[in-house]
Amino acid sequence: MTEHFSGNFTQQEPISEEAIEAAVAVMRHGRLHRYNLAGGEVGEVALLEEEFAALMGAKYCLAVASGGYALATALRAVGVKHGDKVLTNAFTLAPVPGSIAAVGAEPLYVGVTEQLTIDLDDLAAKAGQAKVLMLSHMRGHLCDMDRLMEICDAAGITVIEDCAHTMGASWNGTLSGRHGAIGCYSCQTYKHVNAGEGGLLITDDAEVAARAIMLSGSYMLFTRHKAAPAPEVFERVKFETPNISGRMDNLRAAILRPQLRDLSRQVARWNERYQILEAGLRGTPGLTVVERPEAEVYVGSSIQFLLLEWSAEAVQEVLARCLARGVELKWFGVPEPVAFTSRYDSWRYAPAQSLPESDRILAGIVDMRVPLTFSLEDCALIARIIRAEVSAVWQSAH
Ligand SMILES: *Cc1c(COP(=O)(O)O)cnc(C)c1O
Repeated sequence: MTEHFSGNFTQQEPISEEAIEAAVAVMRHGRLHRYNLAGGEVGEVALLEEEFAALMGAKYCLAVASGGYALATALRAVGVKHGDKVLTNAFTLAPVPGSIAAVGAEPLYVGVTEQLTIDLDDLAAKAGQAKVLMLSHMRGHLCDMDRLMEICDAAGITVIEDCAHTMGASWNGTLSGRHGAIGCYSCQTYKHVNAGEGGLLITDDAEVAARAIMLSGSYMLFTRHKAAPAPEVFERVKFETPNISGRMDNLRAAILRPQLRDLSRQVARWNERYQILEAGLRGTPGLTVVERPEAEVYVGSSIQFLLLEWSAEAVQEVLARCLARGVELKWFGVPEPVAFTSRYDSWRYAPAQSLPESDRILAGIVDMRVPLTFSLEDCALIARIIRAEVSAVWQSAH
């Protein structure tokens, strides 16, 4: 009998009863705006910021409207101006180059390796051309962060980390988002905590934090923040920093606080699923598993494998055959992107660049989401289906 998978690749887990109760409490008192506080009250957003800063070991934290907003705010806060070049990944998600375009700057793309991380040799070669690197840990893959920081420190490059897929991950014992000057996170439904929309920004730099808070739309109410620098730091920036409203509200913060307390348990659950999928795919003819470095603690909320040097027709055939058995795979090599754009050649508002080695790798990347609504048995079944279909197409071609 041919096995079939019937789960849904975009269905996340429900919000916990504890988080629902916290949200209902906010709606009952009606103070949804972060600065609308009863006497002596701290507010859910300020508490979320305090708790996330503590969890990450950061001095300052700002909660905002989205991950993409956090990225653009980070660029503004470090002083990126119209016309500046910003180094970034050739393989990432649209909000990353979008944040660079949002401040009128130009993305300068750095290639991708077969480990799906930023190409550090390409970065070193381009290091003289920009003062800021917007580093995206795309699909949760961390590069050698020690070497990356060496390259950037030597060239005087400020690093902003896009940790949309690495909340809870670490490199050599340092949490993702704590190597660079700023770490940015997304709280959107498909990331590691789910408020529908939302973003978090952390930093140890007092001036950057004060500017980010002013940028997010704090008016002159910045003393209502907890994970923020002292008022005298704001004195230096408060009339020079524009208000580009993108605050988080108390309702979303209320939903997020219990999820942060649960993060490490969720990470373990993602990784159990990831490891079953990885083990099931390993050794499939024609398929390359993306090996995870020992220094990396990852969060397996999605899995990628490579069909390197496969023809487009053969990859399409694998995808169609898997889909017919209920397994939805995404192929980053598809000529016309479906649902999302993740390749540098899709962002045509930026100057065109040519990265042939990255093109070769991008043409072979297949991706799958791993929602926590999948059971361990589901993951084993999905791996069997992919293995069978990849093997069948491979054998018919060889
Ligand atoms: C989701 C995501 C973001 C931020 O997205 P928002 O939808 O703006 O929260 C940034 N980078 C990557 C790689 C992402 O996947």
